[in-house]
Amino acid sequence: MSWKEECGVVGVWNHEHAARLSYLGLYAMQHRGQESAGIVSLYQQQHLHHKGLGLVDTVFDEEALSRLQGDVAIGHVRYSTTGMNLLTNAQPLTANLLSGPVALAHNGNIVNSDQLREELKVKGAIFQGTNDTEILLHLLARISSSDLIHCLQKTLPQLVGAFSFILLTHDRMVGLRDPHGFRPLVLGKKLNAKGEWSWMLASETCAFDLIGAQYVREIEPGELFWIDDQGCHSIQWAQSEKKSKCIFEFVYFSRPDSVVFGQSAYEVRKAFGRMLAKESPVDADVVIPVPDGGVPAAIGYSAASGIPFDLGIIRNHYVGRTFIQPQPSVRDFGVKVKLNPQPAVLSGKRVIVIDDSLVRGTTSRNLLSLIRQAGAKEVHLRIASPPTISPCYYGVDTPQKDQLIAANQSIEEIRKFVEADSLAYLSMDGLFASVSDKGQFCAACFDGKYPTSLS
Ligand code: AMP
Repeated sequence: MSWKEECGVVGVWNHEHAARLSYLGLYAMQHRGQESAGIVSLYQQQHLHHKGLGLVDTVFDEEALSRLQGDVAIGHVRYSTTGMNLLTNAQPLTANLLSGPVALAHNGNIVNSDQLREELKVKGAIFQGTNDTEILLHLLARISSSDLIHCLQKTLPQLVGAFSFILLTHDRMVGLRDPHGFRPLVLGKKLNAKGEWSWMLASETCAFDLIGAQYVREIEPGELFWIDDQGCHSIQWAQSEKKSKCIFEFVYFSRPDSVVFGQSAYEVRKAFGRMLAKESPVDADVVIPVPDGGVPAAIGYSAASGIPFDLGIIRNHYVGRTFIQPQPSVRDFGVKVKLNPQPAVLSGKRVIVIDDSLVRGTTSRNLLSLIRQAGAKEVHLRIASPPTISPCYYGVDTPQKDQLIAANQSIEEIRKFVEADSLAYLSMDGLFASVSDKGQFCAACFDGKYPTSLS
């Protein structure tokens, strides 16, 4: 199964700088994927594309952007596990179907992709890459209709799992979400040079902020939205009875300055911290975050507890995410490279350390030892989410169960492993009390309850 996909998608309709705005949108969403980036633009009813491996600003230069002519474009950033990092998997994917050229950018993970891929191969489909996104192209190609919306309505019900897609044809830009609404997708607008509205789709609103677009609304779970020369259109391609929005978007994944599922990610993270302070207080001198993920929750913890907030750990921003380094030895070293505890803040103090999540436990173990070396007298670890006990099959890179420390050890055993004086996690009730629409989330990484079948 190829479930380790974290991605960001963007689309721009009716703007003279469509490719450049897409580039900026991807730049704002770089945290959603660092291994490949791509943009497809629409010029004289044909698709122009540029894709590459690496960060957005290494893949695109002035020349590449100026070749992406046209006033419509879609783009994608992608993270995958090592070995799957092939240029053929870089998106948007493109193909020529009966309905004309189609480009496809996907965020999420289709859990029945292995089965669908095998069925398609038996019927003669030739796959270029190993990602699950290509499956939709093959399914669309098998419907004998020149109307893409009709093709989508016929094929989407075959997909199980998490998918927010942006598609581009020769005359339409489409945005759609799976009926559970696992991954976000938002709509924005901005005036173009002619004084007309140009429309934008993006995984996160931080993309709109950078390009000066207004946030309009979410694309709803089960909605099929498209824009053409006649304007905006929307239908429900599937009823969305039980929404399962990803709670981990709030815990870690989204940028704090984004509005996610209609709520500020920053405010939700602060609420996690306030709740954590109520649930698991401890007498201490200072509250410090593990930057950057733990910062909003630490602000919330400090406000609710009255214990001063300080920056006890300084982060080197030029180091890639420690989590995505493949070998454990590199990962352990990465903690030291990235996070440097400050004796000036920590020496002789009883310290509360706040992180957003604890996955394998290696980051905390290394960090807590460095915090003690910096002179802390006591170190109390507080995690602003519940114990991570199950892998994600819907598009967040969590390791397999055997590597999830909380799936295999008790909280007391984890406390000993990370060498903390005390350890506490946010409760499930505390997690849900901090978001506005409890009951509409997938929290499978914390409770093991998967809202779909897994194959
Ligand atoms: P670990 O050493 O595995 O316990 O790593 C925990 C750290 O990884 C926390 O500081 C989180 O901010 C971060 N983290 C959690 N989930 C992810 C993810 N899916 N990708 C990258 N980093 C993550």
